[in-house]
Amino acid sequence: MSAVRVLERCDELARLSEESGMITRWYGSRSLVEAADLVAGWMEEAGLAVRRDAVGNVIGRRGDGGGTFVLASHIDTVRDAGRYDGPLGVLLGIEAADAVGGEPGFALEVVAFADEEGGRFPLTYLGSRGWAGDLTSDDAELQNGLGERLGDAARAMGGNPDAIGTRSAPADLLGYLEVHIEQGPVLQDQDLPIGIVTAIAAQSRGIADFRGMAGHAGNTPMRLRRDALAGAAELVLEVERTARATDGLTATVGWIGNEPNVGNVIPGHTWVTYDVRHQDDATRDRARDELENAARTIAERRGLELDWRRRDDLPSVPMSPRLRALLTEAAPGTIELGSGAGHDAVTAARLTTEAAMLFVRCKDGISHNPAESVREDDVGVALDVVVRFLGLLDADPVLLSARKRE
Ligand SMILES: [Zn+2]
Repeated sequence: MSAVRVLERCDELARLSEESGMITRWYGSRSLVEAADLVAGWMEEAGLAVRRDAVGNVIGRRGDGGGTFVLASHIDTVRDAGRYDGPLGVLLGIEAADAVGGEPGFALEVVAFADEEGGRFPLTYLGSRGWAGDLTSDDAELQNGLGERLGDAARAMGGNPDAIGTRSAPADLLGYLEVHIEQGPVLQDQDLPIGIVTAIAAQSRGIADFRGMAGHAGNTPMRLRRDALAGAAELVLEVERTARATDGLTATVGWIGNEPNVGNVIPGHTWVTYDVRHQDDATRDRARDELENAARTIAERRGLELDWRRRDDLPSVPMSPRLRALLTEAAPGTIELGSGAGHDAVTAARLTTEAAMLFVRCKDGISHNPAESVREDDVGVALDVVVRFLGLLDADPVLLSARKRE
C-alpha cells in the first residue's frame, strides 16, 4: 500500500492530454481512452476483474456476494486542469482495494467515471449518470456544438451506445465512497490532512438581466439616465453583502454581459449571473429570493426593466450519517465540512442513502488549474483511513444483520 504509487500514477495520467503543455481530457478523446486503458491495467494488477459499461466507465471488481461497496471518482478533466481532481479518488480506490484484498465479506468495486466535468457534451455527471441508469437511449443521440454525437464518444471509450440507459451500478449496492481533493482552503486553514463531507451544497444559478437606455456619455444629464450597468453593479455588491451576512452561504456574480460596452456610451443592457450555495435548501432559497427582491428594488428605483431568470435550483445532497460515523471512527478527530462543489456522489446518493465523501487537503484550495497540488503524507492518511473504514464497514452491525437475512 503506497501513497507514492498513487501520486506517481496521477503523474502518469497527467501526461495524457489533448493539448500539449496542459492537461485536457475530454470524454471520448484519444487521451481519455488511453487513460482508461492505463487505469484498467492498474485495476488488473490489483487483482480486480475489469469491465466497461455502456458509457465507457471502467469498473474493477473483486468478490461476490455479501453486497457490493463502491469506491469511485472520475478520470476526465476540465481544460488546462490539475492532475488530482478526479484521478486521485480513482487511484486511491485501486490502492485501497489492493490493500484489503479478498478480506472483506462483501464485494468491492472501483469505478473510474469517464466524464464528470461535462467538457465535451452539455450533460453533467455523464459517467455516473450512465452508471446509475439515469440516462436514456435518446441521450446517445445528443450532439454538441461541433455536431459530435455522444453515442460515438461512448463507443470510442469502449462503451455501447445501444445500451446507454442500462444501469451498471450493482443491484446489491451497499454504499459509495468518493475521495476527492477539497477544492477549497478550509483544511489548509485548519492544518488538517483530510475532512469528512457532511453534504453537497444546494445550488441556485441564474441571470439577472437589466435593461435601461443607452445614451451619449456627454450629452445625457445624470438625472435622466437609465444606466443598466450601474444597476447591475449595485446588485453585485448586494450579492456579496447577503452572503457575508449568512453563515455558510456563498454567493457569487462570476460573469457580466454589457451592451454596447463602449467607453463613451451609457450601458443600455447589462446581465449578470448569480450563483448561490448553502448546505441547507431553505437558507439557499431565502437568500436567492432576497437577491431577487433586491434586484427588483434597484431596477424600480433606477427606472430599469428586470428579467430575473432562474436556471438551476439543485437541492442539497446529504451524505450518509452512518458512513460519516464510520469514517470518524477510522480517523478520530477529523473535522466535517460541506462541499460547495458538485460531485459524482450526487448521482450515487440517488441510488443509495449510503453515499459518502472524504476530502483531501489541496494546496491553497486551488483546483481546475495546473497548480493543483496535494501532499504525499496527506494522501497516505486518506489511504489509511479508507482501508480502516472498509474494515470497520465489514464489522458493522447493520451490514452483518443484513447479511444474516440473505
Ligand atoms: Zn472532480
